[in-house]
Amino acid sequence: MYCSTARVASKPFTAKRAANFDRRMSSSRVQAQPQKATLEQKRALIESVDCFIFDCDGVIWKGDKLIEGVPETLDFLREQGKKLFFVTNNSTKSRAGYLKKFLGLGLDISAEEIYSSSYAAAAYLEATKFPSDKKVYVVGDVGIEEELDLLNINHIGGPSDADKKVELTPGTFMEHDKDVAAVIVGFDRNINYHKIQYATLCIRENPGCEFIATNLDAVTHLTDAQEWAGNGAMVGAIKGSTKREPTVVGKPADFMLRNIAEKGNLEMNQICMVGDRLDTDILFGKNAGLTTALVLSGVTDEETLLSPENDIHPDYYMPSLPELLECKTVNV
Ligand SMILES: [Mg+2]
Repeated sequence: MYCSTARVASKPFTAKRAANFDRRMSSSRVQAQPQKATLEQKRALIESVDCFIFDCDGVIWKGDKLIEGVPETLDFLREQGKKLFFVTNNSTKSRAGYLKKFLGLGLDISAEEIYSSSYAAAAYLEATKFPSDKKVYVVGDVGIEEELDLLNINHIGGPSDADKKVELTPGTFMEHDKDVAAVIVGFDRNINYHKIQYATLCIRENPGCEFIATNLDAVTHLTDAQEWAGNGAMVGAIKGSTKREPTVVGKPADFMLRNIAEKGNLEMNQICMVGDRLDTDILFGKNAGLTTALVLSGVTDEETLLSPENDIHPDYYMPSLPELLECKTVNV
């Protein structure tokens, strides 16, 4: 028998429902220490929101391996009438690239449900009415270029600058395109001195040139053997040479979230952010006033979460996303 959430899934978040939710949740929300979600809390979580936003790596999959039970969990949440969105700070792929990954893993997802930071960067330029006669210089991968192409935004740089070398001899002078009005910096495993200098020239010398970071993640999981320097390193290089702060469009900034809320016609209190990283996923949710749920199937372990040094506390935490299936199988 399904848990009680099935009967209320499509109801609006009324004052009565909110009060009921607050009463049921008060025992966990007032705790200084995060509490592992009980069955009743998992039910209340599902009942209290109309939309779940999922981080991908560490929540849906680990590297290229699907986390067991995720497809059934997503099906269950859809059966409850929940809207689902998938967000990732990884800018190396476009939404189309991610869709292939989802489908390849056997997950039935539509392109409209995917929000990558590559898309967010392009959507930011669209939202700010980037002039059609201007160009973007890309430090990053093909995912950013593909998203810019979809919006007919001119761009240079990207993977085509991967092999460029700077020969420094007396009088060496690098020309740069004066029509570059934005530099997007995303994860780039082929970052080099040419790209750093080119981006620096555009930002420093082209009046009004924007500096956009897809994200500031310190580390990323390129292999399952260790953590690797993330886009924070690439952005840090350009920050260092320009003394400028970037506009961040990925997590934990709220640009992607506002875009999701607008397109999904959602209020912030109708959304739960589910992630495995405290300083991006959970902070992203908390910054915006969402309900937050941490899963321990990714980069954060229970010891880190409960450590006195950690002050980012999710509303709920659970070992992994498929824990929510407990609501489906337990009688009420
Ligand atoms: Mg993650």
